[in-house]
This record gives sequence, structure tokens and C-alpha cells, in this order.
Amino acid sequence: MNVLVINAGSSSLKYQLFRMEDASVLAKGKVERIGMDTAIVTHEPAGGAEFHEVKEILEHTSAIRRVVELLTHPQQGVVSAMSDIDAVGHRVVHGGEAFKHSVLVNDEVKKEIRRLFDLAPLHNPAAMLGIMAAEAAMPGVPQAVVFDTAFHQTMLAQAYLYPVPMALYRRHKVRRYGFHGTSHKYVSERAALLLGRPLAELKLITCHIGNGASCAAIVGGQSVDTSMGMTPLEGLMMGTRSGDLDPAIVPYVMGKEELTLGEVNSMLNKHSGLGAVSGISSDMREIVEAMEAGDKNAALAFDMYAYRLRKYIGAYAAGMNGVDAIVFTAGIGENSAQLRRAVCEQLTYLGVAFDADANAVRSSAERRISTAASMVAVLVIPTNEEWVIAQDTYNLVQGLS
Ligand code: ADP
Repeated sequence: MNVLVINAGSSSLKYQLFRMEDASVLAKGKVERIGMDTAIVTHEPAGGAEFHEVKEILEHTSAIRRVVELLTHPQQGVVSAMSDIDAVGHRVVHGGEAFKHSVLVNDEVKKEIRRLFDLAPLHNPAAMLGIMAAEAAMPGVPQAVVFDTAFHQTMLAQAYLYPVPMALYRRHKVRRYGFHGTSHKYVSERAALLLGRPLAELKLITCHIGNGASCAAIVGGQSVDTSMGMTPLEGLMMGTRSGDLDPAIVPYVMGKEELTLGEVNSMLNKHSGLGAVSGISSDMREIVEAMEAGDKNAALAFDMYAYRLRKYIGAYAAGMNGVDAIVFTAGIGENSAQLRRAVCEQLTYLGVAFDADANAVRSSAERRISTAASMVAVLVIPTNEEWVIAQDTYNLVQGLS
């Protein structure tokens, strides 16, 4: 069975076609600048030459039609006909409280995703465009949706409620949801395999550190806490997002700087974090480069980033009353030996014996970066959210037959 995974943004669409039998990626690619007469299509068939084109693509349905043409093309294609694409899996950011698992798409599911537009105004409408487009371009092909929030629905009220008037929760669903769930779930399962221990026995802290960043406390395979909240702004310091701050700053700054709600929202989401503190870049590679060249602001941004992550690890170890392993994943977690070192060398109180040599080795493999004697294992595990989406879709579609 072949499953097409789609991650739709408001003006872009990324895709991967998986052959489930051997977990191979047959092709992947993206369509950028949807809505323009100069949309960019990039298509990478496995083992074949990368294909690029610039053409008019005005909406998502045309984008998916073009993707299907390329996947079935005599030269660039990897399957012979659309009937070789057995199912489509979509990434949807916000599943609210309604979705605790991935589900097949039907009218009720679409209605519920629309109801959640308020909670994820940037992301859910874009995902819905992808779903509608795939339905139009690939009629009759079953579709599933996989939510970033679903894995964290196991959190207890003590972790997901904010200490504010409960009417806000009852009336407006103001609560913590958490994100990056497919990634936290995937790396926690891989961690158990790498450690050779049942997931059911483990207490894990998973750190998904990319442009967006969150960590999760996972007991027996279930998320019990996570750093992102009602929106992906809470928690760790990120590339352009502030993460945690005193909420009183918002009205104070709005008054002093005469900012509108939209402006303050944009400041905290797009003009804060590493980029704002360093004044250089929101990209960790450039921060590390500048820091190593002696830039003080870059060093400060890096130190704040590492310090805030270390505090969350401490909090989650406390919350779970112990931790067996800490897992690093995503762009920074997988690649930045400097960041991992800055975080882990100061976790000796937890029983972490960090292996600086293993940490310094550049590799894309799953690996351990703590010594054999370490009481708490530290692991680097490349994430694979698309594979989780493909697997969930596959399992749901199997259930249909
Ligand atoms: P997204 O959240 O957009 O999926 P990624 O998981 O791709 O983001 O992570 C992007 C981040 O990873 C950027 O800050 C980038 O600098 C960082 N990164 C990627 N490669 C490296 C590297 N070799 N060293 C340090 N940071 C890296």
C-alpha cells in the first residue's frame, strides 16, 4: 500500500509518498507560493533526478493535481496511476479536545476541524484547504487526519488547566493542548527500542528543538505534560517566539508602546526568541557561528535558550518523580552538539553522565550521548513525523477493509 502524506500551509504544500511494506519514501517534494503565477514546484523521486518548475498554481487543488501528475509521470513519476495511491494522510495542527487519535475524514470531522479554526487561526484553515483539495483532486481515495495535539490529550487536568477563572475553560476551551505530538510519540517509541526496555516502564523527557520547540514528559508512553500550551507560543524560548513570559508584560507593553493586539501577538510570535535577543538571526547555526566568533549578543541568546530548556528538564524530572532518559530531536536537537552539551553538562544532579566525545560525533543515526554508567540515558533520535502520519493513515485504512 502507498500512502501520500500532505502537510498543507496557507501558501505551501509539502508531500511524501510512502510504500508501507518496506517503509520507503518513493518520492517527496513541495509546492511553494501557491496563489501566484510563479509558484515553485520541487519534486524528488527516490533515486531519480530532482525536478523543479515555476508555473501558475492559484489554489491548493491545482497544487495537488500537479503533485499527482508528477507522481504518476512517465519520467519523474514513481507509480503508474493515481489508483496506486491508496490513501492520503494530512497533518492538522489543532485537534482541540475532540480528537484524541488520528481519524478518517468525514463530514463530521471536517466540521469539527472548522470549529477549531479559532484556536489555530493560522494552521487549521490551511490544513482544511489541503483536505478539500485532496478530496477534489483524488476523488474516492480515503483520507485521514493526524493531529499535533492528540498525543497530549492524556495530560491530567492538573497539567492542562491554567489557574484562571474556570469559566474561560468552560466557555472558550482555554486550556493547554500541546503540539509536536507526532514527534514526541515517535521518538519516545524509538527511545524504548534503543534502550531495549518496554516503553510502559519508562519515564522520558523528549525535547523537540527546531524552529518551534517543545519538550514533553512521558510516563509509560503517555504524555503527562508538555511545554507548549493553548497555542505554540508557551514554553521554551524558540527561533522567533518568546516562550514563557510574565503575562502582565502584554498589557504593560501595549500601553507603553501603543501596540495593538495584533502587533503584540506578532511581536511575541515572530519578532522574539533567538532572533530578538541576538539581533542576528533566529537560526541556531548562525547563532553558534556568531557566538564562536565572539559575538556577545549571540552568546547571550544561546545561553538563555539552553538555560530555559535545562529548567524545563528539571521541572519535568520533578513532575514525574524521576527520569530514565532525555531525548533530543528536530533540527537543533539532532544537529547542535553545542546546545546539547550546554544543556546536559549541568544535569549531573540528576545522574546524567554526559559523553562529550559521543556528542561531538556528527551522525544522522539514532545514538546515545551519555556514558554507559549514566543513571539517566541521553539519546539523539531523528524525528520522522511524516512516517507517523503515514502509519496512522495506513492503520485506519486497513480498518476499512
Ligand atoms: P522546523 O520547526 O521549521 O521544522 P527544524 O526542525 O528544521 O525546524 O529546525 C530548524 C533549526 O535547526 C534551525 O534553528 C537550524 O539552525 C537548526 N539546525 C539545523 N542544522 C543545524 C546544525 N547543523 N547545527 C545547529 N543547528 C542546526
